[in-house]
Amino acid sequence: MATLIDGKAIAAKLRNEIAEDSAALTAQGFQPGLAVVLVGEDPASRVYVSMKEKACAATGIFSAEHKLPVETTEAELLALIDQLNNDPRIHGILVQLPLPGHIDTDKVLEAISPLKDVDGFHPYNVGRLVVGKPLFQPCTPYGVMVMLKEIGVNLAGKEVVVVGRSNIVGKPVAFMCLQEHATVTLCHSRTRDLAAHVGRADVVIAAVGKAEMIRGEWIKPGAVVIDVGVNRVGEKKLVGDVEFAAASERASAITPVPGGVGPMTITMLLANTVASAKRAKDKAQ
Ligand code: NDP
Repeated sequence: MATLIDGKAIAAKLRNEIAEDSAALTAQGFQPGLAVVLVGEDPASRVYVSMKEKACAATGIFSAEHKLPVETTEAELLALIDQLNNDPRIHGILVQLPLPGHIDTDKVLEAISPLKDVDGFHPYNVGRLVVGKPLFQPCTPYGVMVMLKEIGVNLAGKEVVVVGRSNIVGKPVAFMCLQEHATVTLCHSRTRDLAAHVGRADVVIAAVGKAEMIRGEWIKPGAVVIDVGVNRVGEKKLVGDVEFAAASERASAITPVPGGVGPMTITMLLANTVASAKRAKDKAQ
């Protein structure tokens, strides 16, 4: 029976450390500051933004919310980003996605200063990650890597199979594992015989967005399973991309959904903001 990887507990421990770092920086006149920009009324985005605000408040990070109406033009949004890029109180800028259709998301993400890009989505930061010299790492995959480290997984020489190749999870986590010397296979919707790939893996990282599509019987006995997927089933129930009960019978360790990867994402956003404030302080001294 697999050990549960408790994302909540790992995140809570990290948030305590982040609060300590934040307090130390504040005492030196560099309180970490995060600007969160939300355009429109998307209900899920509003929930995420309010969770981010609460997490900032709990760790002593200054947060500036910019809630803009849905009819905000691209030029107005770019002007706000320019202002935030030049605001010394702000060390991180997060634009909540998705943006309304009349705004070019790539243009907006590329307008954020790479030195304040706490989501790690700017092509500069993507490039730094790919060449193995990361500045800001995207929060969800960064959280996955921290979890693996916390439970003592050494990836060197291991077979890692990532299912899903999105720019926010699958691709970056594959490069992060490569950086840790794993042999990485990146699977997607055109992959032939997914079961055979998954069955070879010492570590499976699932980021697909399809309820329990990765069957428990595919998991190699003793493998570590990280389930990034969050899928709503019925009114209230959330499940991951992995068939949890059956996979738990074979894996050595597995993340639950909810309570696994989820709590790590905002935590790594806070960590990136504090790291950015530290860099600003070092530069100023
Ligand atoms: P995307 O929809 O952007 O990407 C899904 C990926 O899965 C694509 O690469 C797609 O392949 C692949 N895929 C789809 N069907 C199959 C299949 N049958 N076999 C193999 N691969 C398949 O999703 P995200 O990366 O944004 O998110 C993935 C999941 O993670 C979602 O459930 C999301 O809610 C969750 N998530 C959770 C976060 C957290 O904080 N816990 C944060 C971010 C995401 P192709 O490229 O070929 O289309």
